[in-house]
Amino acid sequence: MGSLRFNVVEEAFKKHPVHVEAPAERPSDFYGKYVFNQEKMFKYLPAKTYRKYREVLDQGAPLDMQTADEIAQGMKKWAMEMGVTHCTHWFQPLTEGTAEKHDAFVEHDWKGGMVEEFSGKLLVQQEPDASSFPSGGIRSTFEARGYSAWDPASPVFIIGDTLMIPTVFISYTGEALDYKAPLKKALAAVDKAGTAVCQLFDPNVTKVTANLGWEQEYFLVDEGLYAARPDLLLTGRTLMGHESSKNQQMDDHYFGAIPERVAEFMRDLEIQALELGIPCKTRHNEVAPNQFELAPIFEECNLAVDHNMLVMSLMRKVARKHGFRCLLHEKPFAGINGSGKHNNWSLTTDTGVILHAPGKTPEDNLRFLTFVVETLMGVHRHNGLLKASIMSATNAHRLGANEAPPAIVSSFLGKQISEFLDKVEHSTTDELISLEGKHGLQLDIPQIPELMIDNTDRNRTSPFAFTGNRFEFRAVGSVANCASAMIALNSAVAEALVSFRERVDALMAKGTEKITAILTILREDIKTCKPIHFDGNGYSDEWKEEAARRGLDCETSCPVIFDRYLDDSSVKMFESLGVMTRAELEARNEIKWETYHKKIQIESRVLGDIVMNHIIPVATRYQTVLVDNVQKIQNTFPGDEAKELCAYNIDLIRRINEHTTFIVNAVNEMVDTRRRVNQITEERALAIAYHDEVAPFLDSIRYHIDKLELIVEDGMWTLPKYRELLWIR
Ligand code: ADP
Ligand code: MG
Repeated sequence: MGSLRFNVVEEAFKKHPVHVEAPAERPSDFYGKYVFNQEKMFKYLPAKTYRKYREVLDQGAPLDMQTADEIAQGMKKWAMEMGVTHCTHWFQPLTEGTAEKHDAFVEHDWKGGMVEEFSGKLLVQQEPDASSFPSGGIRSTFEARGYSAWDPASPVFIIGDTLMIPTVFISYTGEALDYKAPLKKALAAVDKAGTAVCQLFDPNVTKVTANLGWEQEYFLVDEGLYAARPDLLLTGRTLMGHESSKNQQMDDHYFGAIPERVAEFMRDLEIQALELGIPCKTRHNEVAPNQFELAPIFEECNLAVDHNMLVMSLMRKVARKHGFRCLLHEKPFAGINGSGKHNNWSLTTDTGVILHAPGKTPEDNLRFLTFVVETLMGVHRHNGLLKASIMSATNAHRLGANEAPPAIVSSFLGKQISEFLDKVEHSTTDELISLEGKHGLQLDIPQIPELMIDNTDRNRTSPFAFTGNRFEFRAVGSVANCASAMIALNSAVAEALVSFRERVDALMAKGTEKITAILTILREDIKTCKPIHFDGNGYSDEWKEEAARRGLDCETSCPVIFDRYLDDSSVKMFESLGVMTRAELEARNEIKWETYHKKIQIESRVLGDIVMNHIIPVATRYQTVLVDNVQKIQNTFPGDEAKELCAYNIDLIRRINEHTTFIVNAVNEMVDTRRRVNQITEERALAIAYHDEVAPFLDSIRYHIDKLELIVEDGMWTLPKYRELLWIR
């Protein structure tokens, strides 16, 4: 025992970087090489077809079959020139990750041979057997059909010999079984509502786009060490392991020099991502040892979500080539920071304005103020739902752990914006009246200095922070599909914007001048959403009390937080915007609860196995060595002296016994608890039982295992330790 661990550690230390040849061209030349983007469409499609495609994109009209056929022919030509033989619909089911079903480009030629065929029909629709994807009871298994259909807003791309077609995935009866379908609806809703509000300021605006810039954090672990840890392998996180004496306390990893093996991995990853049209920009070490970050330039939200899904699968693949495993779990290691995925979000217009960026004139700033305040209105009204949108069994470990945002959604605005809001709120009616008739040109709205864009006023503890020209939703988990958070956020803001426009219109209908009407509603809203605004320390205990007083959602139990999706306010919002129906929300919650209980169940089983196969045998063996030593001393030395000489080891034997006894009893109790709660048939109740009754065992058992790790002889310990897992040279 133990020698396997030493071998894998030794092998890991001997590894050299896998050198990656830089492409001969510059990044701008190979950017999008494997993507059927607009440039290639222009080249491969007849002009008429390309124009129709643009209409579909710009006006949201459905793709007709003839155009689909013509696009498919162009795609096929390009793909075959690139050596492609297969194609697949690529979709985002409600599990983690993406799914695909590959078909070769072949059909019978009905003369005994084959022809290479790829029709518009295949582009537009496929019927993957949906029976083994989670559907939360929407579709009973005998009705196993689900449809996938191309999303023309997300270009097809090539991976290996396969043409990948990004699709939505819906059930036979039309309910969304994926993330993309409701996301597209939420984006359409925020476009419509945002455009209506923009037109109060500028009638030329015809489209509002939501942007997303994600920052993906991840850990790398040597693959040999990873393979020797059944918990990492099966659950994505370590269920045991004592903290390394040195980890992140020196802050020497953050922005430090990137180890060479990792640098080569990053280079490889970025080249492949750029070839797939993902505009990678930033890479750096993160706070914890072995933790890193990749961030591209922001893109339109739907495309950015696809690109994030693609990057996560690329990371896993490229890491293996470099002898690593990429950990995307939010909390792979206790005691050091976990991984998140900041979602930088803003709205822009087709006239080139970032609606969350301050402008140069008072009117620009009034519009800016409107979008900031209505964003806060949405976040305030649906703060519980937004928390539910980022909550998962894995992200629950990270939230509220004094490193990531707390499990209460609030918004940081910074000094300048806070003062701006105060000023507007407290400006008097007189001032308002004096504005009338002057078309707002002499508004008493302080011009925001341009340096705001480079706002250094930052607060790392805030889950939803304003950062100069965008909001940063920081609570999103590293492994999550960003769509979940983006569906909730864009819907919440769309609802707030709809209500804003309605209330402004109502005042104007009564004869109130436009600017006055806008300011009146904004003042009202600044007061209403005040409880969501918090610039202080989100980690403090005082904040938890204060947040509860303010009526913010302070629930911490993951399965209970999912209830927020079924609150009347949530259902009403999603239904009124046409994003999701109650039936869809209910079905999706079933899946969330089921996923939650299964994850805890797997962790609990894996920990039980580790205890029985590793921890107890190793501790017992070491105890036997100690007992042997005690016996030999007693045989060698006279009574009193022997007593003194054995004292330390006898104490150790007792301590080992205390820990192993606790562990074995707790594992037995945990297994009994599982058996008992498994009788529960209702998904929500089962998830709650796993949260309340099973999960606590994971922590208490771990505590005693980690104590044993400190006591037992290093050579006997079979499982790689934190200090080994966490240091790449
Ligand atoms: P940080 O300092 O938080 O690490 P970065 O400079 O790395 O921020 O940028 C984070 C992300 O925010 C990037 O993807 C960037 O493109 C994106 N971003 C910048 N401006 C906007 C905006 N107006 N809307 C959405 N995303 C934006
Ligand atoms: Mg950031």
